[in-house]
Amino acid sequence: MKYIGAHVSAAGGPDQAVIRAHEIGADAFALFTKNQRQWHAKPLTDDAIEAFRNACQAHGFGPGQILPHDSYLINLGHPDPEGLRKSRDAFLDEFQRCEQLGLTLLNFHPGSHLKKISERECLTRIADSVNHVLDRTQGVTAVIENTAGQGTNLGWRFEHLAEIIEQVDDKSRIGVCIDTCHAFAAGYDLRTPEACTATLDEYGSVVGFEYLRGMHLNDAKSDYASRVDRHHSLGQGNIGLDAFTTIMRDPRIDEVPLILETIEPSLWAEEISWLRTQRLDTGNANSAVH
Ligand SMILES: [Zn+2]
Ligand SMILES: [Zn+2]
Repeated sequence: MKYIGAHVSAAGGPDQAVIRAHEIGADAFALFTKNQRQWHAKPLTDDAIEAFRNACQAHGFGPGQILPHDSYLINLGHPDPEGLRKSRDAFLDEFQRCEQLGLTLLNFHPGSHLKKISERECLTRIADSVNHVLDRTQGVTAVIENTAGQGTNLGWRFEHLAEIIEQVDDKSRIGVCIDTCHAFAAGYDLRTPEACTATLDEYGSVVGFEYLRGMHLNDAKSDYASRVDRHHSLGQGNIGLDAFTTIMRDPRIDEVPLILETIEPSLWAEEISWLRTQRLDTGNANSAVH
């Protein structure tokens, strides 16, 4: 089973994200459980939690179909003690919000060394941050997202993800989300079915599909290997549709949320239904999205 959806707005409360996902015909979705550009958020009220749980039940979304994303401010590999403490506190709060909402996955960006510590030191710090939070929570898996490698962001090489996982104590609660735009911008080719399969094979041998907990399906405005993170709608960017057809037909990618973070929300319903047609061999791989 391939669960397909988009990162929908949670404006008005987390239950509204569920409604929005349902409205675009999704059977998976991503959301922020708090404002992604602020450090502090009010705790979730009992009413908001109940409304979210009821909406999920009403529309048939189980926790394995929902991939919440953490705040952009968090840097789990922060070189400074104060920045690291603040990030770990905020990450713990994100985990606790997931626990309250009955969610089991939390997608995060690994972190940045800010040119103050070595890559290796930063990766160890990230793993320590994950261990710190996993020790204090239950039932939620930390899902590392590969990055485009912009600035001093780590996690753009599959080896970085493997090195973090290696140092996480509870391997049952660490996973990976592959973002296609980030991978392409980081230098993993996806432009042909062969290139896409080779990239997925490389992920499989360096990290392993047993850790795959989700994917972000985005075309790229950015160029191949540019280390620039700019998403595009499916079929309109430099990756092209073949990658998404290949992903939809790869049996190694199953039972995980596949989330669009494409730039035009008005196209999400169409993109989701096109992706669904690609699951079967009856679809034409070269048919346009529009
Ligand atoms: Zn992300
Ligand atoms: Zn992403």
